[in-house]
Amino acid sequence: MTTRKQVTIFLGPPGCGKGSLSQLCSQKLNWVQLSTGSLCRKHIIEQTDIGKQIDFSIKSGKLIDDKLIVTMVEQWLKESIAQNDGIILDGFPRNVAQAESLRGIIKNSLPHYQLNVVKLFASDEVILQRVLGRSICENKDCQAIYSLEPGSALLPKKPGICDVCSSKLIRRTDDTAETLRDRLHVYYGFEQNILDFYANDGLKIHEINVEKPLDKIFVEFSKVIN
Ligand code: AMP
Repeated sequence: MTTRKQVTIFLGPPGCGKGSLSQLCSQKLNWVQLSTGSLCRKHIIEQTDIGKQIDFSIKSGKLIDDKLIVTMVEQWLKESIAQNDGIILDGFPRNVAQAESLRGIIKNSLPHYQLNVVKLFASDEVILQRVLGRSICENKDCQAIYSLEPGSALLPKKPGICDVCSSKLIRRTDDTAETLRDRLHVYYGFEQNILDFYANDGLKIHEINVEKPLDKIFVEFSKVIN
């Protein structure tokens, strides 16, 4: 497996499996992962000032303020990069303004890192099924992702309990069919602009069809990063 320093961003609609793939990459490759969604949920659980500000947007499937999210990402990167060759950004950037900020951050703070852009795609039917079958660990510092779909590799060992930290599994407040429609609408409204932005920067966009089991997706991803 490659050890070049790299920042990988996963673009893909909500619920397509970006988080599960990031989770697996951090286990198998020892990369660090940042899920901006998890970071937002942590703020909400801790009832920080930011958490109070963003609670409603998250519940209704809207994006939160660019400045706020860029500050969070910058802060996290500062704390996390020192000893890591691989960084995964799950859920960032979500629009061109964020992609521009990320370009600046990499140029200034991570000049030796190569940026990989990986686009994950699946049909809306598969996404809906995944979102309705998803649960996460309620522990704000864990938030491991599980699937209750029969036969899934992400089924918890004990029903309703997190394999990692033994906390309770819960459903995300935004994982409803209704909110998913809005989240998909927001995502597809920005997707092409972000892809064009990276194509203009001369970056290859790797595409992976994620309508398959996670282990097969990981094999495909491994080929991409090599
Ligand atoms: P996710 O866990 O990636 O599905 O994100 C859950 C929610 O967090 C999104 O619906 C947004 O409200 C918020 N969020 C996560 N990442 C971003 C981002 N990069 N920009 C703006 N809002 C975000």
